Amino acid sequence: MLLNLLEYHWAEDIDDALLLLARTDIKTVPLAGGTYLLGLQNDSIQAVVDLRDLGLAYITEDVHGIHIGAMTTLQSMADTPILKNLAMGLLVRAALASSSSRLIRNSATLGGTLAVGAASQADLLTALAVLDSEVVLRSGSRMQINLEGGTNDRPGLALSGITFKGKQERSVPFSSLELERRSNELIVEVIIPHPAAGCGTSFMRIGRTATDVALLNAAALVEIANGCYRRVRLALGGVNMEPVRLQIVEKELEGQPVASSPADGQRILAALQKGIAHFRPPPDFRASSDYRRVSGVNLAYRVLEEAMNTSNWHSVITSESSTPTGPWPSGGLED
Ligand SMILES: Cc1cc2nc3c(=O)[nH]c(=O)nc-3n(C[C@H](O)[C@H](O)[C@H](O)COP(=O)(O)OP(=O)(O)OC[C@H]3O[C@@H](n4cnc5c(N)ncnc54)[C@H](O)[C@@H]3O)c2cc1C
Repeated sequence: MLLNLLEYHWAEDIDDALLLLARTDIKTVPLAGGTYLLGLQNDSIQAVVDLRDLGLAYITEDVHGIHIGAMTTLQSMADTPILKNLAMGLLVRAALASSSSRLIRNSATLGGTLAVGAASQADLLTALAVLDSEVVLRSGSRMQINLEGGTNDRPGLALSGITFKGKQERSVPFSSLELERRSNELIVEVIIPHPAAGCGTSFMRIGRTATDVALLNAAALVEIANGCYRRVRLALGGVNMEPVRLQIVEKELEGQPVASSPADGQRILAALQKGIAHFRPPPDFRASSDYRRVSGVNLAYRVLEEAMNTSNWHSVITSESSTPTGPWPSGGLED
């Protein structure tokens, strides 16, 4: 409960919202779907700015990539054809897995989930980590300057209380959002660069039950070009954990030639043995750190293998040079 809430603002223009959020005399925060904020016990929040009418619920596509507005709900992400076709529906699967309740998915927004971060318990964050996504942030400021001053000999300007309004927009990589975002900055949208046509992706999770939060989740994206692994992305995450990119594993595999299944398997294992040493997941009442590390190797192996197989299939089919040698993994786009 926000027991000290004094003001509710329904902003109709993004600049108005930014100026309200920039106030320093009254603590003002954005209100998106409200699924997290309204249940929060925080006595310092005095005002909220409702973002519903700012036109930030959209999913569009242009040359830079796919733009997902901050007010897009998790359910809209799961339903949109553009995202179903992006990276084999990776974001769709992760959005659906983020909350098993459609009621919550209908309210919870992308911006709210990013702002809450690990505490949102959303699988979406791990999927965003492998897509090289960028987050667009905007802030506003208002400055009142009095130019009336001066002396009798040299009077000042006949202007009092001029108001300067400023705004700033910048984009930060998703991986550094937590560190870089300032408290008065509004998350406006997420931009996901188009992955190459032949890339393969995979997303898996471990939970106590199918609908529970993920004790651990893993996402991988693999792109093959000219018979080599050109781009490899691998991230592990889970409940109360920031997603972690295993960059050592990625570097070990990038540039390597595509091999037969057993040889690729050996290579993945060797890379994981090197890279997992830097994976130090936190313990909590659900799972110990050791459990998460051991399961992490297993899960990371499986997502990399699936993403590599899929990418391999794409490259074989597009080059039409040989017959595919493995099963096509299911997209898993269940609701
Ligand atoms: C009982 C319950 C269980 C839940 N379990 C899960 C779960 O397992 N997995 C899951 O993914 N989600 C879960 N959620 C929902 C979770 O709260 C949302 O995923 C998300 O974290 C909040 O999104 P929202 O749009 O409702 O944000 P809000 O609650 O409106 O806001 C959350 C925070 O983000 C800030 N904020 C919102 N939008 C912006 C923006 N554009 N820019 C800057 N800051 C912003 C707000 O000021 C606030 O501090 C659960 C919710 C409930 C009520």
